Amino acid sequence: MKALIGIYHSPPGHWVGDGFPVRTMFSYDRLGRHLSPFLLLDYAGPQQFGPAAQPRGVGEHPHRGFETVTIVYSGEVAHRDSAGNGGTIGPGDVQWMTAASGLLHEEFHSEAFTRSGGLLEMAQLWVNLPARDKGVAPRYQTILNADIPAVALPAGAGQLRVIAGEFDAQRGPAATHTPLAVWDLRLAAGATLQLPIPEGWSASLALLRGALRLGDSQELGEADLAVYSTSGANLAVHALRDSVLLVLAGEPILEPIAGYGPFVMNSRQEIEQAFADLQAGRFGSMG
Ligand code: MN
Repeated sequence: MKALIGIYHSPPGHWVGDGFPVRTMFSYDRLGRHLSPFLLLDYAGPQQFGPAAQPRGVGEHPHRGFETVTIVYSGEVAHRDSAGNGGTIGPGDVQWMTAASGLLHEEFHSEAFTRSGGLLEMAQLWVNLPARDKGVAPRYQTILNADIPAVALPAGAGQLRVIAGEFDAQRGPAATHTPLAVWDLRLAAGATLQLPIPEGWSASLALLRGALRLGDSQELGEADLAVYSTSGANLAVHALRDSVLLVLAGEPILEPIAGYGPFVMNSRQEIEQAFADLQAGRFGSMG
């Protein structure tokens, strides 16, 4: 079994633009070594928005060197980028954007959600790329709810949606650059589940809603993160209440991490280059 290394509570929330009230559940500056290939997880909401005339969100900004994965639970988000990609994702949908060599994008509430208002709940995960892939062309995967295998757990224990990786012989639709798993897990109160995660992989549980017991006595509350050892295989989780969590696991990328703001590279020199390229207009334009 993997050993539980620690439980981390989210710091107080902050706003990303005027559309996304997030709690940062982890970031690479503190936990990068333990969570690789994952860099950061922002959990937005659940927050009620009233109807509005202008979409709320975050305007044009760059990314380079990694991927952003947006998972929507409630509400609707629209995206547009300088690589010419864009789309609207709603409940159950996932947008897997590979920034890689660099792009500009914007993230807003969709027009329809802006007009109607409603409950917004989503998560954005940053996934690192190995050095060999940080310079590849940007890519955009729209993964619809219907494309994500949903495995019903035995005895009404809940459901596991396979966004990436493999569970119970079901393969998730996301194409990834390194071996990893992203699972959207709903676990019913009282249920216990064994999660198959390989020896050598990082593993963490990000609890969005509910309460979990880990091991004999440790408890995980809302917006808490549990981090496990890379050594050992598999872990077990028990739901004290109906729970919604992300299971994140992957083969660590054993390379230096140098990050600043929207860029995550391998060296400080590459970060300086990213700023120079941005100023020189080499990230394209939104058109
Ligand atoms: Mn962004």
